[in-house]
Amino acid sequence: MEIIKSAKQMQEISLSLRKLNDTVGFVPTMGYLHKGHVSLIENAKKDCSKVILSIFVNPTQFGDGEDYEKYPKDFDRDKKLAMAAGADYIFTPLVEEIYPAGFKASVKVRELDSVMCGSFRPGHFEGVCTVVAKFFNITLPHRAYFGLKDYQQYLIIKKMVADLNFPLRIVGCPIIREDDGVAMSSRNKYLSESERKNAVILVESIKLAASLIKNGFTNLEHIRDTVLEKFYSTPFVSKVEYFDFRDSETLEGISSINKHDFKGSGSDLLIACAVRIGSTRLIDNMIFDVSAII
Ligand code: AMP
Repeated sequence: MEIIKSAKQMQEISLSLRKLNDTVGFVPTMGYLHKGHVSLIENAKKDCSKVILSIFVNPTQFGDGEDYEKYPKDFDRDKKLAMAAGADYIFTPLVEEIYPAGFKASVKVRELDSVMCGSFRPGHFEGVCTVVAKFFNITLPHRAYFGLKDYQQYLIIKKMVADLNFPLRIVGCPIIREDDGVAMSSRNKYLSESERKNAVILVESIKLAASLIKNGFTNLEHIRDTVLEKFYSTPFVSKVEYFDFRDSETLEGISSINKHDFKGSGSDLLIACAVRIGSTRLIDNMIFDVSAII
């Protein structure tokens, strides 16, 4: 496994891999790897002959007062996990390499970026799209792997790739969870022991909402009220930024299962939330196949 810091060298390597008929898989991350990231690398390795993992804490996707400065890092551990999972290259540039003085470009996917996390983190998805577009041009992958844990990000990147004709395929990979159901995240490290125990409220609330829908409750506003009550009676929940029911393709808000005709739309119901446990912001979601119940 090779560690590459220069964008030019990474691009030259990718070009030569493509000339040799290798299939190039790309897995972008911010490092501090866990089993969720490992599963993306393993999925990439199954499909592709060469896998490039990027580790880059992208400053432009963090807002003022967010955790850019304290984002956890452990490059030695990351290297071992990446190699064991089958990565062939780690691309880990310095910030100055990606954003040299005078950098002016920006990529924005309108509308999809203005709801859910986008409305609480202004500029976040523009930062994500810009760096991912740049990394696609540097790593020139045939396929790029994204976790469904960041579902809105996955959808926005897919739209960016379609709208801007990037010649690659986006592959969405399932959410990897801890034994108690909590979605793995580098940010779980910020949680105290008691906060971590109570973080299970995110997945439990989503499951509660899903089971109410399965049992025939159609008014999603009422279900949200029930879920919010549960959140605010849980210790350490300091804020529920959103608990949303949305069309899984358009991210349009849905208030009632009956009113929204999913049949033939090809999309499912997305149940997604962002919640602060103490001062740590966590997200989770589930895609719910509505066709089974309507
Ligand atoms: P991050 O390092 O948090 O920016 O995440 C890098 C990639 O790993 C993104 O595509 C995430 O969606 C994905 N990822 C993070 N956590 C998980 C998880 N628990 N399961 C699956 N994918 C994940």
